[in-house]
Amino acid sequence: MTATISKLIWLAFGIVWFVLRLRPRRRARETPVRYSGRGAREVLLLAAALTGLGIVPGIYLATHFPRFADYPLVPALSYAGIAVDLASAWLFYRTHRELGRNWSVSLDLRERHTLVTTGVYATVRHPMYAGFWLMGLAQALLLPNWIAGPAGLIGFGILYFGRVRREEEMMVAAFGDEYRAYMRRTGRVVPWLFWRH
Ligand code: SAH
Repeated sequence: MTATISKLIWLAFGIVWFVLRLRPRRRARETPVRYSGRGAREVLLLAAALTGLGIVPGIYLATHFPRFADYPLVPALSYAGIAVDLASAWLFYRTHRELGRNWSVSLDLRERHTLVTTGVYATVRHPMYAGFWLMGLAQALLLPNWIAGPAGLIGFGILYFGRVRREEEMMVAAFGDEYRAYMRRTGRVVPWLFWRH
């Protein structure tokens, strides 16, 4: 394992994620929206996630900036990063399959939106966000740089904490007691943890 290989593995999983999202993105464009919670706040939150998970590490790969924050590669961390990225990719695959046309990059409710509570949605309410947390963790493990590594966790953390409560309020407004009951039997991103809200 070398630093270059570790960085290329980060890139490869980024490409896997991009490809996994091609079909959901196309379907999202085709599926009418009945209510949208988008706005300046969502734009800023999405920009924070994109910056941390994409732009900062992308610049690091392309230009080696910020080089001063490099540290020597620890191969064991890179191998752990691969395992975490595999779990993350599996979650993206599963969640997109299970959400189907209900998926949206932001806070939207579709025409004929259905509440998904089975499969990976049976134990946690935000398995796709769990996938992003793992993606951020894998980035921190794969990139031997004190800034480009943790940037994903910070950027996605901003999106997550800025959004998750509003998303759940939107789901309660749309699905009422069905979503409240779902909240009582699930965790947010970790099964059986913090499962009462
Ligand atoms: N927070 C979820 C979904 C992310 S996609 C996860 O992490 O897996 C965001 C969109 O998914 C939101 O606009 C919302 O309308 C929709 N959504 C969230 N939870 C859902 C569920 N259990 N069933 C159907 N749609 C859901």
